[in-house]
Amino acid sequence: MSELNLILLGPPGAGKGTQAERLREDFDLAYIATGEILRKAVADETDLGRKAKQYMDKGELVPDEVIIGVILLEVEGDAAADGFLLDGFPRTVDQAEALDTALGRRERGLTAVLCIDAPDNEVVRRLSGRRTCAEGGHVYNIHTDPPKHDEVCDQDGSRLVQRDDDREETVRKRLEVYHRQTAPLIRFYEDRDLLKRFDGTRSPTEVHDHIRATIATLRLEDEL
Ligand SMILES: [Zn+2]
Repeated sequence: MSELNLILLGPPGAGKGTQAERLREDFDLAYIATGEILRKAVADETDLGRKAKQYMDKGELVPDEVIIGVILLEVEGDAAADGFLLDGFPRTVDQAEALDTALGRRERGLTAVLCIDAPDNEVVRRLSGRRTCAEGGHVYNIHTDPPKHDEVCDQDGSRLVQRDDDREETVRKRLEVYHRQTAPLIRFYEDRDLLKRFDGTRSPTEVHDHIRATIATLRLEDEL
């Protein structure tokens, strides 16, 4: 069977995390999430990890070439030999081109870029509806998964609060950044005929079914 090399794109709150979990179970893919991999490189004190740490300690953004280096090591590692699922990378066209070049050198390529989309207002509604338990971190949503009693955690009776990250103004700012960064990437992958769109307003199971069907079709085409 051919390898499955996937990228996951989409705004916060569109259900990327849930789909990533299911895809990992379905296909046993190496899951490469930028934040996690950077933290691991720092903890393992690799050359790139040490470089990344210098910026992180100063509260600065880790430069593109360090992030690219860390991610490519994972993509080229044994664990990802049969396929990978990238989450949070690439974020820029430069990163996308670096990935392209690295894969091309090994005569590998991307299978698809899965974009789970949801309109801004839906994302704002979902994320600003989140309430988090101040004690145990239990998460509720006033629209889709409300607690039995307003503002109180079902499990331990603690007070529920809205995290700063989930405030409407913050979510709108994150969305602005997301659209600014992602628009060129979406064009980049559309031009290469790799972009597949999924409707993140559907239920997680419907989105999952649609992704699986799309991957099955791609694999069939690949065999022909
Ligand atoms: Zn709680």
